[in-house]
Amino acid sequence: MSSALIALEAQVRVDLAKIAHPNAEWLTPKLGPDSRPALDVLVVGAGQSGLATAFGLMRSQVTNILVLDKSEKGREGPWLTYARMHTLRSPKHFTGPDLDIPSLTYQSWHEARFGEEDWRNLDLISRELWAEYLLWFRRILDLPVRNGCEVIEISPAAGGLLAAKVQTADGVDIVLAARSCWRRGRKAWATGPFRSRCAICRRRFAYMRRSRSTSCPCAANALR
Ligand SMILES: Cc1cc2nc3c(=O)[nH]c(=O)nc-3n(C[C@H](O)[C@H](O)[C@H](O)COP(=O)(O)OP(=O)(O)OC[C@H]3O[C@@H](n4cnc5c(N)ncnc54)[C@H](O)[C@@H]3O)c2cc1C
Repeated sequence: MSSALIALEAQVRVDLAKIAHPNAEWLTPKLGPDSRPALDVLVVGAGQSGLATAFGLMRSQVTNILVLDKSEKGREGPWLTYARMHTLRSPKHFTGPDLDIPSLTYQSWHEARFGEEDWRNLDLISRELWAEYLLWFRRILDLPVRNGCEVIEISPAAGGLLAAKVQTADGVDIVLAARSCWRRGRKAWATGPFRSRCAICRRRFAYMRRSRSTSCPCAANALR
């Protein structure tokens, strides 16, 4: 790693330490039915929105979180997969998931990686570099991301929790969480909300994230 990048990473740590107050967790951890600890928030999708969400939560001292993405590490979002344009559409000065912390901006990373002159001469950010920046962002913030994990179903569980069914290469796992936050990207618009099965009448229904209501009247009882 170049000395400029090492210096930038040190700067990020200094900046974050200065704004860490009150630096204490404030949510009471919840336990699942089998006394397994539940997450405070499960974030679905580790594209730029999922990473920004995770960072925002951690800055607010909500640290008992997990971000799941079905793709392999570095292949999240459109950048190295289905994108056809070679660059981002937004002007290079637009800030992204950095939440307005200067040392975390794309510009800071680009200047540390290629120099200030290269940044000045840059027109639009290439999608490959944006993908690389997002990986750096994730690493420097130590965001809790797990790849190769597809959330295939979310249902209400006992104790007001949610049970997310997660498909991995090793099989299906259940992740319990108090809240879920969907950052599944544009492609997921076509698939709509997660499907679930009513715990009472076993009918299929759509799990709606905002209201926690469902299309099944029985499932509303299951939430009580
Ligand atoms: C060439 C190009 C240029 C663009 N330029 C810009 C730009 O300049 N500015 C801008 O704002 N936008 C731009 N966009 C749009 C860009 O796609 C979105 O802004 C951005 O990707 C949205 O981020 P996201 O995290 O919401 O979704 P995505 O980046 O699509 O990430 C969603 C993630 O969720 C994961 N996922 C989905 N379903 C599940 C599931 N069930 N379980 C687990 N993981 C799941 C996916 O694998 C994916 O990694 C551009 C797009 C392209 C293709």
